[in-house]
Amino acid sequence: MTTKPVITIVAPVYNEEPIINEFYRRMSDVMDASGEVWELVLVNDGSFDRSAELMQALHERDPRVRVVSFARNFGHQNAVTAGMDYARGDAVVIIDADLQDPPEVIPQMIEKWREGCDVVYAVRAERKGESWFKRMSAKLFYRLIYRITDVDIPLDTGDFRLMDRRVVDALNVMREHNRFIRGMTSWVGFRQAGISYVRQERYAGQTKYPLRKMLRFALDAITGFSYFPLQVTIYASLVLALIAVLSVPVVAFLRLATGESVFEGQATTLIVVLLMSSFQLFFFFIMGQYIARVYDEVRHRPLYIVSEVWERAPEPAAGSDAVPESSEQPDGASTLT
Ligand code: UDP
Ligand code: MG
Repeated sequence: MTTKPVITIVAPVYNEEPIINEFYRRMSDVMDASGEVWELVLVNDGSFDRSAELMQALHERDPRVRVVSFARNFGHQNAVTAGMDYARGDAVVIIDADLQDPPEVIPQMIEKWREGCDVVYAVRAERKGESWFKRMSAKLFYRLIYRITDVDIPLDTGDFRLMDRRVVDALNVMREHNRFIRGMTSWVGFRQAGISYVRQERYAGQTKYPLRKMLRFALDAITGFSYFPLQVTIYASLVLALIAVLSVPVVAFLRLATGESVFEGQATTLIVVLLMSSFQLFFFFIMGQYIARVYDEVRHRPLYIVSEVWERAPEPAAGSDAVPESSEQPDGASTLT
């Protein structure tokens, strides 16, 4: 039996073998010192190193650690979603397992939450130990998203944040695919506040977000929260129409005045046709991105498949019948959507 936690810490884990024990050590030090009743939900996102083994050992040592293991790699955002589905606390803190987000910031978040904030997000005042390219692309990305989306997603914030149970419940019914959780959290509203922190270097190992995944994530953010790329075609079309209309009298006048054709030769035609085709294909690509995501929604596949859960049953609420010790998950679902 474990006592019902007040704070749930959710951390996604994908091949973080050299980090897990240190993460637990720092997290439990901070949380024990805070005096809160807490639990740690580790989501194993299809790791193929010894991460699962280490997490299971942690659970056996400390029942406050619960482990949800996926059947394969479903991606960071789905792992965070699973953590939120399984969380039992009155507030949920999402944090990366690689110690880039220092657990020492959490007590400050809890304090703000107790003062009445529903979402306390952590703003990266500085990023340490990341490449110039990563820092610049991240900076550009957050500013672009801010400009073109309809919801006010705070600049330079990742998923490191605390959320009240009301916010978590609201997010848990939003089962959209290709998730951009920091955008979804802004979208639900409630009282939100930020605190700033210095993003640290990775404790060990490599980033699990290569360029390909970063681009995909950026497209999820844009398509999930903006129609701007679809609407921008109207401006392109108006500009081209204007050029065409204006060039008719210009070409006619020059022809009459000089007796010569202005745009002579096949090369000009060819170049213009290639340029126009490239524009058109680009907009096809944009439309394709939205259509593929619509297709993802209509198939209604679950966001993740769970293969194993290591946890103890929570203590029954006062007055209710005892919950059997062996029950795996309160709602019995092993394949949550
Ligand atoms: N992660 C995950 N599934 C993935 C990729 C990453 O669960 O497919 C986890 C990873 O273990 C880490 C967190 O998500 O705890 C953030 O990933 P990472 O540190 O590689 O991203 P970065 O900080 O470099 O953007
Ligand atoms: Mg990281």
